[in-house]
Order: sequence, then C-alpha cells, then structure tokens
Amino acid sequence: MTFDNIRTICTTILYMVSSVLFIRGIKLLGKADTARKGNLLSSVGMLIAVVTVLFEKEVTSTITFGPAQNAYIWAIAAIVLGGVIGAVWAKKVEMTGMPQLVALFNGFGGLSSLLVALTQYMTDKNINIFSSIALGLTIAIGAIAFTGSVVAWGKLSGKMFKKNITIPAKNAINGLLAAVGLAGVVIYSLSIAGVVDTQIGMIGVIIVTCAYLILGFTMVVAIGGGDMPVIISLLNAFSGLAAAFAGLSISNSVLVVSGCLVGTSGLILTLIMCKAMNRTLYSLLFGSFGGTKKGTAGEQKEPKSMSVEDAYLILEAASSVVFIPGYGMAVAQAQHAVKELCDKLEANGAEVSFAIHPVAGRMPGHMNVLLAEANVPYEQLKTADEMNPQMANTDVAIVIGANDVVNPSALTDESSPLYGMPIINAFEARTVFVLKRGKGTGFSGVENPLFTNDNTVMIYGDAKQTVAQLVSEFEE
Ligand code: NDP
Repeated sequence: MTFDNIRTICTTILYMVSSVLFIRGIKLLGKADTARKGNLLSSVGMLIAVVTVLFEKEVTSTITFGPAQNAYIWAIAAIVLGGVIGAVWAKKVEMTGMPQLVALFNGFGGLSSLLVALTQYMTDKNINIFSSIALGLTIAIGAIAFTGSVVAWGKLSGKMFKKNITIPAKNAINGLLAAVGLAGVVIYSLSIAGVVDTQIGMIGVIIVTCAYLILGFTMVVAIGGGDMPVIISLLNAFSGLAAAFAGLSISNSVLVVSGCLVGTSGLILTLIMCKAMNRTLYSLLFGSFGGTKKGTAGEQKEPKSMSVEDAYLILEAASSVVFIPGYGMAVAQAQHAVKELCDKLEANGAEVSFAIHPVAGRMPGHMNVLLAEANVPYEQLKTADEMNPQMANTDVAIVIGANDVVNPSALTDESSPLYGMPIINAFEARTVFVLKRGKGTGFSGVENPLFTNDNTVMIYGDAKQTVAQLVSEFEE
C-alpha cells in the first residue's frame, strides 16, 4: 500500500469521525441541559476536520521552501488569528449582543464559501461542468448570505438600517439581479467549456459575485418587525448550503456534511418560524413581506402607570398569573428575579405560567434559554397556542420587557408591519402589568395600543429592579 493510499484512508476515517461528532453535537444542542456538551463535541469535530485538511494531498503538495507559497504558514496564521479574534470577541460580547454576533459569524461563513469558490475558479485548471455549477451556486448563495447577514447584524445591533428602507419594485429589482447573476454563471461556464476565453470567463465570475452581493442587501434591507427572525433563519440556511456546495466543488466530504447539516437545520427552522409567524416560504422569498408602513397611531391616549406597592396588592389577590417575557427581560437580565417572584406567587396560592412567543427576544429560543438558566421548570413554559385560550381567565398578565409580541395591532391593523403575526393575547387578561423603562417602541418601531387599554397599567423602570421590588413586597 502506498503512502498516498494510507493517507486517503486515514483522512476518510477522520472526516467520518468529525461528521459523527457534528451530528451528535447537533442532537445534544436540542436540549438546554445537554447543549454545552453538544457545542463541545461539535467544536472537537471541527478541530479534527481542520487538522485533517492540513494533511490532505492537495495541501501538502503546495509546500515549497519559499514562505510566501507555504500553505501551512497561511493556514496556521489564519487559524491563530481567527481563533484569537473569535475567542476575545465571544468572551467580551454581552448576552444581549449575542444575536448580532451570531448573524455576523453567519455572514463570515457565507463569505468564506464565496472566497473558496473564487480561489477554486482561479486556480483549478480542470473544472468540469458539475464543479462549474457547484461553484456558481457557492458564489451566489455565499454572496447573499454574506451581505444579507451584514444587514441583519446592522439591524439587530441598531448600528445600521434601523429604519426599514423601502425599495420601489423590490421584486423586479431582485429578479433582475438574479437573472444578471445567472448570465454571469453562463458566461464563465462557457469559458470553462473553452467557448470563450478565460478573461471573459473572469468577467462572468465578477458579474455573478457582484449581482448576488447586491441581492443579499436588497433582500434583507427592507425587512423588519416579525419577518426579521424568519429571514435570519433563512440566511443561516444559506450559509450552510453555500458551504455544502463549496464542499462539492472542491470535493471535500466533511464540508459537504457540515454544510448540509447547517443548511437543512436552518431550512427546518425557517419553516417552523414561517408557521409560527403565519408566513409562507413563498411570501418570504417573493411576496411583499416585511411591510414597511408604520402602524396607525390611532387614538392618542396616555398610558396609566402604577406604583410597585399598588401592583403588589393586585398580585397578592391574584389566583392566576401569566408572565410574558420579551427582549427587555434579556436586557435587564431579570430572569432570576422573575423566578423568585414566580415562587412567591405560587407560595401565595396563585397558578403561574410563562407564555413564550416564538420570536420573543432576538434569537430563536432566547426566552427559553434565559428561563432555563433561572431554573424555571420547562413544563411551566407555554406556547401562544396553549396560553391564548386561557388568557381571558387570567387575573394578571405581567409583560416583562415584551412589546411587539403582545402588540394587538398585529391582529387588527393591516397597515402595521406586524400584521399577520400571531401574538400572545395579553390584552384579554383581566389586568395587564407592563414592565418597561419608558415609552420606547419594540424592534419593529411601531406604537403598541395595548399600553393604553383600560385594563393595562405600566410599571416603569428597569425590569429587574421592578421585579425585585415586587419580591420584597411579598417578603415584608
Ligand atoms: P421588543 O423588541 O418588541 O420590545 C422590547 C421592549 O423591552 C422595549 O419596548 C423596551 O422598552 C423594553 N426594555 C428594554 N430594556 C428594558 C429593561 N432593562 N427593562 C424593562 N424593559 C426594557 O421585544 P419582544 O420580545 O416583544 O419582540 C421581539 C422583536 O424582535 C420582534 O419584533 C421580533 O420580530 C424581533 N426579532 C426577533 C428575533 C428572534 O429570533 N427572536 C430575531 C430578530 C428580530 P423601553 O425602552 O421603554 O424600556
């Protein structure tokens, strides 16, 4: 057996080991208590895959004694640089900054696949028609994932594109960009087939790259409100699919497996999100989703506010209480105080539940993770479908830093960007407490008529402090 044969067998085995670790890791990520282990297993799988790649024949054959061409120097420098930046960044980021960081990392995944495809096009002289299609798809999907995720990062962090930008004839422009990109694929495929020369082929590659980079921007920039989580899941799926196609074009099996895992889990999440948000994949991709009109302000009424002491008197008499957490609970890090209040209410004889909206917070499962961290039993967390029928019989609904997910205009106001999104029907409870700092709007930027309803009272202040004060009222 030759050295090359042994090397091929070893790489195949190691790639299989990393693929198994990825699959096992994803399975463990499904539950809060095993998620850390799942993350660790997947990271070990990635380490094995990266180290194995360095011993692939194609990589070792590039070694020369001139440092500028030595693939190892480049690869190790990239691993160290990327590893250090990633570790410092992940360590420094606040919990509330996590969603935008994930969006950005997602975009970098798309960019990496795009760069792999471009390098492959420029260096591989034996591209066949199959690789040519795979390269085209990698460039297209990777480019969309990159610019789309950068826009998502800007929106989530509030640093860019905070206001939804209206693009006139958005669908026509997107269709045109997709067609121009396809023309680019045809041009470079003709160059690969030897019909046109390589310089024209290069122009084709530039066309497809630019068209789809712009398409990623135009697709996401007009999105807001309830559609944002869905598009983020889709971009996540795109970055995985781009990696899978990159794997096909450079014949790397572990990249195909990991890309497929990310791509399919992202697509499944997108479909779940679409269902939860009452959208279809068609309307997500081609419809006029992500409305940009502002909700109608309606009758201008001032919300009523209440002191913590008075709120305590109502809570003390309540026999059923529903907590509705939102992004503000994450900002305030109020989950532990909320659990304490939950215990006090239960000790006082009240039945307590948590109504969790699928897009509450800034990432899928955001509220579940925070409440699990505070040891709120999983059985106490209810979906909107489970909770809404009982809302009219609830004495007090406590809205903790939630806004869009309890906005009734999603049900009634066709001009609202939230229209069509199912909400937690907090407005049906006998009394609604809204804990927030002031008159700030939610992610969608629209006013919330719930706050001026007759049965709603605002308790202004940081959610953690307000809840802690309520807890101490129970202790006195
Ligand atoms: P919102 O963003 O609608 O509202 C959050 C509210 O929290 C604000 O109105 C703010 O009001 C209040 N708040 C902020 N800080 C504090 C604090 N320290 N104490 C008390 N209140 C605070 O949150 P929701 O969870 O209701 O809705 C999520 C939104 O995010 C949806 O529009 C969704 O589409 C979007 N989104 C969700 C993603 C996901 O995957 N879950 C991803 C991307 C977007 P004030 O400033 O007055 O205190």
